[in-house]
Amino acid sequence: MTARIIDGKAIAAELRGKVANEVRRLSTQHGLTPGLAVVLAGNNPASQSYVGSKAKVTVETGMRSFDHRLPETVDRAELLALVNKLNADPAVHGILVQLPLPSPLDAQEVLLAIDPAKDVDGFHPVNAGRLAVGMPALVPCTPLGCIMLAKTVQPSLAGLDAVVIGRSNIVGKPLLQLLLAENATVTVTHSRTRDLAAVCRRADLLFAAIGRPEMVRGDWIKPGATVIDVGINRVPAATAGKTRLVGDVAFAEASQVAGAITPVPGGVGPMTIACLMVNTVRAACALAGLPAPAV
Ligand code: NAP
Repeated sequence: MTARIIDGKAIAAELRGKVANEVRRLSTQHGLTPGLAVVLAGNNPASQSYVGSKAKVTVETGMRSFDHRLPETVDRAELLALVNKLNADPAVHGILVQLPLPSPLDAQEVLLAIDPAKDVDGFHPVNAGRLAVGMPALVPCTPLGCIMLAKTVQPSLAGLDAVVIGRSNIVGKPLLQLLLAENATVTVTHSRTRDLAAVCRRADLLFAAIGRPEMVRGDWIKPGATVIDVGINRVPAATAGKTRLVGDVAFAEASQVAGAITPVPGGVGPMTIACLMVNTVRAACALAGLPAPAV
């Protein structure tokens, strides 16, 4: 079998188009322009690149982008004061503090300071709790994108056996909640799971969020399964001195067995930013007392 490739780039572009339509509608019908504030402390090159992409897409979808760059040496009080200012700013509907923060800043403390209604990363415990009990919540962008990708293959996930590798607060745990909400039967695995390959072989839907290059092999996959690869790992390329990106799944092997699979790059990655835009529009509507948008 040769798997269908789930084109995350194209699906994300379509989603961004829907967001842009909603933004236009909110502007013409309600005079509301959603705004996203992104806070970057320090000079981490990967973070700088992520923040740049987020700001670009925010503007492209018609929203306001507020870019806050702070020095590596920014102190706790200054950062918290900025978050509080953004919490109070009516033009800001979403706040994202880019992680990791330079030490000794405490990411947990900063994330807790964000107003849960503006927490477009969905990392605040209030949003995690609301998601867990089935209340409307701002949901972390990467797992939200994973579910959307899986549903392009199987519109209903009800009754399917789903296996998630990884139990982080930003991917594995919210994926568990989202999959349960979709009525899948979910197993969450981690570094202490026994015979992980055998557990994975039961999965109709396999989500890999591990951070280990190509750990999931072709013979871990049930024939015909849908495989969503969250991993982004930089490894040495064939050309000396160059690097390339690979996922947590050995793509060449897995695509011979799976029914559908996301590539890396071009799978989950583009969906994460598109879902950030979705969350910003959702937050803006909720803050303005408007019905949830059509995205
Ligand atoms: P994380 O916080 O480091 O969590 C990794 C998880 O993998 C942990 O639960 C860990 O288990 C588990 N794990 C590690 N080694 C394992 C093994 N040998 N067998 C089974 N499980 C193992 O990572 P994360 O933040 O969730 O990110 C995971 C990957 O997704 C990374 O490659 C990251 O770059 C990528 N990512 C991509 C996007 C995107 O937009 N595409 C967004 C976020 C993350 P324990 O809990 O037992 O330690």
